[in-house]
Amino acid sequence: MFARLLLPRILPSHKLSSCPQGLPASLVRSSAYVGGSWLRSSDSASFPVLDPATGAELLQVDDCGPRECREALKAAAAAFQTWREVPAKERSALLRKWYELMIQNKEDLAKIITAENGKPMKEAVGEIVYAANFLEWFSEEARRIYGDVLSVPMKDRRALVLKQPVGVVTIITPWNFPSAMITRKVGAALAAGCTVIVKPAEDTPLSALALAELAHQAGIPAGVYNVVPCSREKAPAVGKALCTDPLVAKISFTGSTATGKILLRYAADSVKRVSMELGGHAPFIVFDSANVDQAVAGALASKFRNSGQTCVCTNKFLVQEGIHDIFVQKLSELIKKELHVGNGFEEGVTQGPLINEKAVQKVEQHVGDAVSQGARIETGGKRHDLGKNFYEPTLLSNVTTNMLCIQEETFGPLAPVIKFNTEEEAVAIANSANVGLAGYFYSQDPAQIWRVAERLEVGMVGVNEGLISAVECPFGGVKQSGLGREGSKYGIDEYLDIKYVCFGGL
Ligand code: ADP
Repeated sequence: MFARLLLPRILPSHKLSSCPQGLPASLVRSSAYVGGSWLRSSDSASFPVLDPATGAELLQVDDCGPRECREALKAAAAAFQTWREVPAKERSALLRKWYELMIQNKEDLAKIITAENGKPMKEAVGEIVYAANFLEWFSEEARRIYGDVLSVPMKDRRALVLKQPVGVVTIITPWNFPSAMITRKVGAALAAGCTVIVKPAEDTPLSALALAELAHQAGIPAGVYNVVPCSREKAPAVGKALCTDPLVAKISFTGSTATGKILLRYAADSVKRVSMELGGHAPFIVFDSANVDQAVAGALASKFRNSGQTCVCTNKFLVQEGIHDIFVQKLSELIKKELHVGNGFEEGVTQGPLINEKAVQKVEQHVGDAVSQGARIETGGKRHDLGKNFYEPTLLSNVTTNMLCIQEETFGPLAPVIKFNTEEEAVAIANSANVGLAGYFYSQDPAQIWRVAERLEVGMVGVNEGLISAVECPFGGVKQSGLGREGSKYGIDEYLDIKYVCFGGL
């Protein structure tokens, strides 16, 4: 019955009849990927994917709804029954194959990211390698899921702990890392023996679908990795269908705190497990003892990667009195020298467009508010001539804690600098946020390094380092930045249940 319903909408050929210019036809797909097949949306609805650099439409992608979700859920639930039984060594080999295909296709996958997200090609290639590394890492972790034998006080008993996959997982991802935010979750889930349905961000569905094509080629069995793309308009209905269904055991989400809270409510109703990687508000503290050149280099990397659109990007700089002026001067010079705004496909460009005009308006609003309250523009401070989605890398000094850019996450190329006097003051400002994902500080004083690393209310700390993400290390936050950890040896636990088995009468 299920197969008969699906058949008319399964595409005879998965390749597009016409692929956007410059993009790899071998990897660009426009339909959902469900149960190992390319599936058209039941009502033939579609939505446009736009190039953020030009505003031009790249192509139309199928706009799925609750019906496609249900089909994907059934496919994932059926596949779970066999995937959970596949020996870890075989799951590992399949993930490894998927990783190798990503690396073989890294330039083409990067082109898709630059086209739909706007980030420069160099960063896009970096993202693909980072994304692929999660598949490699978890292919290795798949074989290291250990249980325990426990010592109990009764002579005739023995106790064991088994780790088992949680089941079908709904995965909802954002647009800022269209590939890595998927593999970081999917790698761990598949390694553990779970099956998944991915709902990618409406701005960047092509990366998720390209990954599906490669999963197919790698031999990942039908129904293990499913992708259901949809428009922003349908996201609430699709989210509800994917997060309330009894077939789903777990929800894993990366995105805004506001959406995370909606999904947490869904999870509460049927007590599903959750992983939430939500917003951040990273402080970057520069103490008087810091090496100023190291601090300035770290500041540039931490603030302006992906044009400031990452959840671990610095949102506020706190700089101690004695080093303040030289830090601001050097950072301003480095921004002007090193950052080049343009279309991500052009050689030498380091700053692509923001994802859309709404994102630019937020930066504009934050700069306007700060300047109206006395902040000084050191460099930048306005939209870039290149087009409506481009904003100049901006440095503001004389910033105070009451300004919007310190109250909210900007998610754009704005670096606001607050001057402070004492360590206590800096730590208090850093910890005043109700979120806590990443935090950075520069100091050469070992006692201060220990003190501040322990006191910052965040999940990840960079000491004299502005770029800290690595597949080997646990990624995640405290407070309203979320629940759970991704990557590292801890990431796989998010997809495993613990079962205690008691052997009696021995
Ligand atoms: P942003 O504002 O950066 O787009 P969101 O949290 O809104 O951040 O989006 C992250 C992901 O969450 C995207 O895939 C988006 O489509 C999805 N999303 C947004 N609203 C909902 C919702 N109500 N239910 C489920 N998913 C949603």
